[in-house]
Amino acid sequence: MTREKCFSSLDNNAIKGHVLAVMQATFSDAELARYSRQLLIPNVGIEGQMRLKKSSVLLVGTGALGSPAALYLAAAGVGRLGLVDPDVVDVSNLHRQVLHGEPWIGKPKLESAAARLREINPHVELELHRVRFAPDNAMTIAARYDVLIDGSDNFPTRFLTNDVACLLKKPLVYGAIHRYEGQATVFAPHLGGPCYRCMVPDMPPPGSVPSCAEAGVLGVLPGIIGSIQATETLKLILGIGELPLGKLTVYDALKSSFRSLRISRDPHCRLCGNSPSINSAANAETLVSTACAASRDEVPTITTDRLREILSGSFDGLLIDVRESHEHAVSRIDGARLIPLRELPSQLAELPREREIIIHCKSGARSARAVKLMLESGFTRVTNVQGGIDAWLAGQ
Ligand SMILES: [Zn+2]
Repeated sequence: MTREKCFSSLDNNAIKGHVLAVMQATFSDAELARYSRQLLIPNVGIEGQMRLKKSSVLLVGTGALGSPAALYLAAAGVGRLGLVDPDVVDVSNLHRQVLHGEPWIGKPKLESAAARLREINPHVELELHRVRFAPDNAMTIAARYDVLIDGSDNFPTRFLTNDVACLLKKPLVYGAIHRYEGQATVFAPHLGGPCYRCMVPDMPPPGSVPSCAEAGVLGVLPGIIGSIQATETLKLILGIGELPLGKLTVYDALKSSFRSLRISRDPHCRLCGNSPSINSAANAETLVSTACAASRDEVPTITTDRLREILSGSFDGLLIDVRESHEHAVSRIDGARLIPLRELPSQLAELPREREIIIHCKSGARSARAVKLMLESGFTRVTNVQGGIDAWLAGQ
């Protein structure tokens, strides 16, 4: 479409002149031709296209979800796309990660992604961050962008991305997939609605929830969910339509159904609640869990029956409860010392390295993270209580 055709429907010559000047200053003829079908849409037009060009989006992950999101956002003319991914392309990625192709196997995903995205739209500026999104770099990277997209394939990165987005007051376009089912929404507590932690307060322990690599996924499913993420991102940038704040879209491919679930903001949420305790990306949980992501080894574990035997003998070690004080007030194991997980890193120096240390929480998840943290901090005699105090009480 030429400039002249683009605004031929306008009657007022003064408006025409102004629009022409703006278009000439912003877009080349090649860009106008490229975006012509998008410029025709009500509520997009030249102004919306300019908004897109001035916007920036960070994709955390260029895998299954990041692939379709990046492809459509680049095609739509988002001005600056940041991509975070430390991985290389593997042949097992190709059935769902449509950014990447056969020639790129064994090469960095970011190089593969950049080559493909430049083919699609050379007018988009790409910023490549070939690092693992981690507590020590996440805030700095994310601060440069208007919108964050969660394209992660693991809980530590998902929690970290949520924390960073909330702390920086940037909208997070969330998506997740599992076999035949996927879900998507926008988390933006600063605009209203919950954050991801309101929906999933505690990070599942390493290995407790299978990843795509372990559980499998229908290859087209991330295409659908990632495209929903791209759609919500465009709506955010353009300021059009309704944002799904507090509304989770769940797609079931086998039932051919879309469901919409309400998610409420949790006033006790540790991130976006009324008295938040998480005020940096480097909180105990993301520090511990990111370490867990790098190594999915199981931690040493004992049953509550074994714990009873140990405690009834001449135990001279330390039993630590890493729950919160309000949980400890309701139920406790005699002799356990309360050190909430988030306070553990700051108390490691005071704990005896030579003695046996047994850690429990409510169900075994937080204590597994605590054990992992202590092992990585040089402790050698640390054990997790399987099932936590729930199992302990059930066995009484
Ligand atoms: Zn929250």
